[in-house]
Amino acid sequence: MTKYIFITGGVISSLGKGIASASTGKILESRGLKVTLMKFDPYINVDPGTMNPYQHGEVYVTEDGAETDLDLGHYERFTNAKITKFNNVTTGQIYNSVIAKERQGGYLGSTIQVIPHITNEIKDRVKKVAKVSGADCVLVEIGGTVGDIESLPFLEAARQFRLDVGYENCLYIHLTLIPYIRAAGEIKTKPTQHSVGTLREIGIQPDILICRTEKVLSEAIKEKISLFCNVRKEAVIEALDVDSIYKIPLVFKEQSLDRIILDHFRLKCKNSDMKNWKKAVVERAGRPMHKVKIAVVGKYIELQDAYKSIYESLTHGAIANSARLEIKRVDSEEIEKTGPDELLSGVGGILVPGGFGSRGIEGKIMAINYARINKIPFFGICLGMQCAVIEFSRNACGMSGANSTEFDKKTPYPVIALLEGQDLKSMGGTMRLGAYQCRVQKGTLASAAYRKRLVLERHRHRYEFNNRYKKQLEKKGMVFSGVHKDKNLAEIIELKDHPFFVAVQFHPEFKSKPDLAHPLFNAFIKAAGTS
Ligand code: GLN
Repeated sequence: MTKYIFITGGVISSLGKGIASASTGKILESRGLKVTLMKFDPYINVDPGTMNPYQHGEVYVTEDGAETDLDLGHYERFTNAKITKFNNVTTGQIYNSVIAKERQGGYLGSTIQVIPHITNEIKDRVKKVAKVSGADCVLVEIGGTVGDIESLPFLEAARQFRLDVGYENCLYIHLTLIPYIRAAGEIKTKPTQHSVGTLREIGIQPDILICRTEKVLSEAIKEKISLFCNVRKEAVIEALDVDSIYKIPLVFKEQSLDRIILDHFRLKCKNSDMKNWKKAVVERAGRPMHKVKIAVVGKYIELQDAYKSIYESLTHGAIANSARLEIKRVDSEEIEKTGPDELLSGVGGILVPGGFGSRGIEGKIMAINYARINKIPFFGICLGMQCAVIEFSRNACGMSGANSTEFDKKTPYPVIALLEGQDLKSMGGTMRLGAYQCRVQKGTLASAAYRKRLVLERHRHRYEFNNRYKKQLEKKGMVFSGVHKDKNLAEIIELKDHPFFVAVQFHPEFKSKPDLAHPLFNAFIKAAGTS
């Protein structure tokens, strides 16, 4: 019988529900269970693919090409779960399919209502993930904060779920905040009491509370929370602020969260000590041998979440190289104003991430030129690769005005362009999405990093390198070190006379893990540490 865990959040947003869910998945996986994780997003968009990073943060792409919430990135980084398009469910998707079914006559005769039609559709999605994944335990994170109007159907479905599958197969975890009021010098439990009260009104009594706090919770406070929230004291888990998200599974483990969950499920599993995780991602990260400073040149640098997976992957690369990472976030529009010299001086490596639209493009191109001329290790990702091609075409191959047709439809040298027959009529889900095979050429930086001929990497873009210009660029020293053979698409480029100049059309940041850094991030940090 599959076991289900629903994770809700209370008091405020941004408490780290995604990381709490991923960490819970991790400690259960360490006990030998096969886990998978899914996220309910209460917004009406079908997926976050059409949302601005200011609205949503990073869009995380799965192997099968779904554009999903960034929490799914945490799920894949922390656990071995294979996350697919079924693992992110939005209100938009639910209504889309219920309405489509209604039009096809799927419910002939009935009045279609939130209960049971919408809630049944939500529950079916959970059961589908259970079936497709074959997991022993499905963890379901419910987006939003308890008390929101939008998430009510999801909470109602979660409530019904225990009735359907039985008490010992379904568990509720509530993540909450215990604020510390400095002026009073006190920790306050009232917001948590209210939030649990609201959950109970909906019919959900949480079995476990995970309490975010900046102060240690005394036994007396835990007793109080236990009494007022009707949760056993040992199931009041303290989640004290930590300096690395990768420590959270260990924090949970120390408080026996895994045992509490397994007891509820009446499961006996092998013991685990998480020694390997601790060694790989905590101890190693805690003993850096040298410092590496990386400039990330983008246009959403003030947003913590816009380049989430990039920042995490750089951290993984630093762990693999026993380096202490310092990230300098550089606004590409600032480079346009002041030039790159001052903003980029003293960095060991420069990374230009993905993006859409023309704002800040010239600043990115200037940063790449600076990296190329000054022989500073450079790593370009998606738009970063496209900008590297534009820079090289303009400044090394004499193609003045070279550009991507995304930014200049009339450019004399459309070095980046749409493929023939590609149309841009609808925006949602119409990009080259998901995993494509890339053949890596021997004797290149890419091949030294991957040590494999065939790699599978995830994409999310519309424009491609225009092969018409390949020969001209090659003549001046550009190497096309990775190609998608079937469609002859350039996937990796690098430069000959440069210590490390690598740019990729795909998104390697979606496949990096703290204990297994992506080979290209590993190689980039290595190069940046020795430059
Ligand atoms: N805007 C570019 C394209 O659509 C790059 C996309 C990206 O960086 N993810 O091709």
